[in-house]
Amino acid sequence: MDIREEFLKFFESKQHERVASGPLVPDDATLLFNNAGMVPFKSIFTGEVPVPQNPRATSCQTCIRAGGKHNDLENVGHTARHHTFFEMLGNFSFGDYFKEEVIAYSWEFITEVLELPIEKLWVTVHESDDEAEAIWQKYVAKDRIMRLGDADNFWQMGDTGPCGPCSEIFYDQGEEHFNGPEDYMGGDGDRFLEIWNLVFMQYERSADGTMNPLPKPSIDTGMGLERVVAIKEGALSNYGSSLFMPIIRKVEELIGKEYEYATGASYRVIADHIRTTVFLLAQGTNFSNEGRGYVLRRILRRAVRHGYLLGFRKPFMYKIVDTLVSIMKSQYEYLGQKAEVIKEQIELEEARFFKTIESGIALFEKELETTKDVFSGEVAFKLYDTFGFPLDLTEDMLREKGLSLDTEKFEALMTEQKQRAKAAWKGSGDEAVHGDFKALLEEFGENVFVGYDFTEHSGEVK
Ligand code: ATP
Ligand code: MG
Ligand code: MG
Ligand code: MG
Repeated sequence: MDIREEFLKFFESKQHERVASGPLVPDDATLLFNNAGMVPFKSIFTGEVPVPQNPRATSCQTCIRAGGKHNDLENVGHTARHHTFFEMLGNFSFGDYFKEEVIAYSWEFITEVLELPIEKLWVTVHESDDEAEAIWQKYVAKDRIMRLGDADNFWQMGDTGPCGPCSEIFYDQGEEHFNGPEDYMGGDGDRFLEIWNLVFMQYERSADGTMNPLPKPSIDTGMGLERVVAIKEGALSNYGSSLFMPIIRKVEELIGKEYEYATGASYRVIADHIRTTVFLLAQGTNFSNEGRGYVLRRILRRAVRHGYLLGFRKPFMYKIVDTLVSIMKSQYEYLGQKAEVIKEQIELEEARFFKTIESGIALFEKELETTKDVFSGEVAFKLYDTFGFPLDLTEDMLREKGLSLDTEKFEALMTEQKQRAKAAWKGSGDEAVHGDFKALLEEFGENVFVGYDFTEHSGEVK
């Protein structure tokens, strides 16, 4: 079953306009990357742009959550359900239908098109949302509806603007996967898998915090394609599905070692990161030392380091590009057209890091010998500065050892280095140019651009 196509067709049959995915780097300076299906429609929801003739839309949006307030980078390899790059299926109502219809549509899609067994489905609503609970009771038993607080079930676009309660649909992977309280809905375990978030944009929050009902409430939904594909294919982890397994198999073939779930985090990180890397390159973001290009560089280097753990000693990521392209090209034609150039770019960037990774890892291991709990900020800085180990990469390595890092010292050294660089520009006769660059630096930061993001009343948003 082509779930992407089934979803879009289903909502077209409900009079939705099929809209192509927006770019990963949106025309929106407040966002690092597009991180949700609603992003391309943001200005319609806020009223800046008039509602299109058809007030219903559906899309399959490519998303990246690897920075800013939505950051799943640290989850990759560790949870069964998170990726840095993923596809979000969505349906949207711009002041047209509301709770009643969206719940009916999503139930119909899940039970009649996807044919997921009803006994496996659970839903959550906001604790204040009697209306949504009453509607859900037409479809699911009362004890399958959980009421959760703001952290899980309230959405807002920003500190001001449209906001409202949401309702989420979960799939029960089975009692045998219950490992304790972290497995409850909203938690991080494997039993209850969140598949679909229905957002009811119902209020407008003003600067003083008051919430007023919107005259025409709207709907925004997001369902993770990879999670649904995994469920339909009977895979407990997204990585066990046909969207990822061919990539993992290719890595196995290249290194000549078999993948196993329990010990296979490195394979999963590589399979995840190659997708993010290829899509970003295909859409024109290049490896660089700042901004989005630095996020891309960090992601590739993390993957290379995991390859190193598996035993790779020279570039290998570029060799799995074709496998990814063959999985994705029917939906994303541009990947096929750009594959050759992308492979060259990746190989070059890998080669650059393979030159220093060996010495960097040696330095890291040597430092470990004398590390008790906290790893030296000085050494982390040297790893960064001399060997090209991004800070988050060193942190990823430390996490495996259960150690923390003296980030204060690292930051201090970083600041010193920046000041030295600034001082060096002074009197170089190039102030005008550097002035512009300085403004950019101030706006975007050097190496550490984190991006702004939608805020949510959510535990994960810091
Ligand atoms: P989770 O609680 O699992 O982190 P979320 O609540 O952060 O998910 P939403 O912001 O509600 O996710 O996004 C809507 C849907 O997009 C989710 O229900 C899920 O199916 C999917 N999704 C979100 N983040 C990811 C990710 N990192 N990788 C894959 N799918 C994701
Ligand atoms: Mg999340
Ligand atoms: Mg969630
Ligand atoms: Mg959610």
